[in-house]
Amino acid sequence: MFGPFMGLKLYNTLSRSIQEFTPLTPPHVGMYCCGPTVYDFAHIGNWRTFVFADLVRRTLEFSGYAVRHVMNITDIEDKIIRRVRESGTTLREFTGPFETAFLEDLKSLGCREPHVQPRATDYLAEIIALIQKLMDRGLAYRAADGSVYFSIAKYQGCGCHYGQLLKLNFEEMRPGERVAADEYAKESVADFALWKARVPEDGAVFWQSPFGEGRPGWHIECSAMSLKVLGESFDLHLGGEDLKFPHHEDEIAQSEGATGKPFVKYWLHGAHLLVEGRKMSKSLGNFFTLRDLMARGFTGREVRYLLLTAHYRETFNFTLDGLAGAKTALARIDECVSKLRALSGPSATAPAGSDIPLLANFTAAISDDLNISAAWGAVFEWVRETNKKLADNALSPAEAAAHLAAWTKIDGVLGVSLKTEAEIPESILALAGARTEAKKARDFKRSDEIRNELKALGWMIEDSPSGIKLKKI
Ligand code: AMP
Ligand code: ZN
Repeated sequence: MFGPFMGLKLYNTLSRSIQEFTPLTPPHVGMYCCGPTVYDFAHIGNWRTFVFADLVRRTLEFSGYAVRHVMNITDIEDKIIRRVRESGTTLREFTGPFETAFLEDLKSLGCREPHVQPRATDYLAEIIALIQKLMDRGLAYRAADGSVYFSIAKYQGCGCHYGQLLKLNFEEMRPGERVAADEYAKESVADFALWKARVPEDGAVFWQSPFGEGRPGWHIECSAMSLKVLGESFDLHLGGEDLKFPHHEDEIAQSEGATGKPFVKYWLHGAHLLVEGRKMSKSLGNFFTLRDLMARGFTGREVRYLLLTAHYRETFNFTLDGLAGAKTALARIDECVSKLRALSGPSATAPAGSDIPLLANFTAAISDDLNISAAWGAVFEWVRETNKKLADNALSPAEAAAHLAAWTKIDGVLGVSLKTEAEIPESILALAGARTEAKKARDFKRSDEIRNELKALGWMIEDSPSGIKLKKI
């Protein structure tokens, strides 16, 4: 039904090696990307990570998988609480506009919308239940300050491994040390807060719980939301490399401590972005949001292109000159595509079995741990050769249509085409096809199951006299 999956290889931080990607229950892939902390506009470094997540999702869909992409909204966190206090507003009044801006920017950058976007504030019951479970299992304790901490010593005592993503120096660990902060130093392997007891500085930001009034820590929020939406074990978890420790290590400890099952099969981490050779900072004047760049006349598509030029595991240096170069590169693609469109005309269909090397070259590159430079290499080689053929009048309308079809397929991964059609992923089309087959065979149980599967993936299927219609929910 789905055809053979492309032999996709990805670098798994868990094994520190490039591995063949084999999901737990193909064709389904559960993917969780740690979302934005909505205390400000996302900067261009954050966007590198979210565009990387979008590339992973699109590559999986291109490979024939049915992806369920979850990206949370972190709306309870230390920095947010501080800013809520400073701005004298309510939590929701403060975070709402940043959440809206984030989702607008995500669209401007051509990212496919995650299927589920859980907010921490909507998952308090799940968070509290998870903390309770860890307490019941003896892995969490209430300290004198009223906060609940995760005990790393108890967790290790059960034969569990703390330090799966990063080699940690346990010699420097001072037993009994605790941290209440959401982010802490790489060197301190300390017990971390699951529930932070209410303090006057929290203002009105607190919730009731069996452990007293307070609020959850950042790490437990992600564990609770991912376990609830994707289940106790799922395929892929992503974020920027700074999240490996403590955030992701703590997510593993909490989740595996509570369920006794392996939490995530593949961990992917994107390298950081520098701007004009330096770490971004407001005082250096190199701190850009997407809006700053758009105000300078650049488009989301150009920013997306530039962010997609470097391999995800390499530090990338973002420059305004580079962005100008992105404009030129995209114009070359646009020109070639529009010439092909003009030649093929609206009704030309690609001849059966047309073999466009772009497809094979691109597929080989992207499935090799997302080798994006080789992928762009294949695209620009195709542009060069196609332009030459067009100039020599060596393409028929049907051949032009075949080239266009190949480009459209490739652009399903890159997402840089001028036209932003709401594409329907292959995997969704395949599921829809399977449903039609099931209906034909009068297997209505199966056809209803598939309808529900599609719904869970964010697609509504409708039968109409002219055939089926798929709509994004
Ligand atoms: P935050 O909103 O701070 O939780 O960060 C959102 C995402 O952006 C996380 O996955 C971070 O790892 C990532 N991130 C933060 N700074 C950078 C950077 N300079 N380059 C790439 N990714 C970053
Ligand atoms: Zn997270």
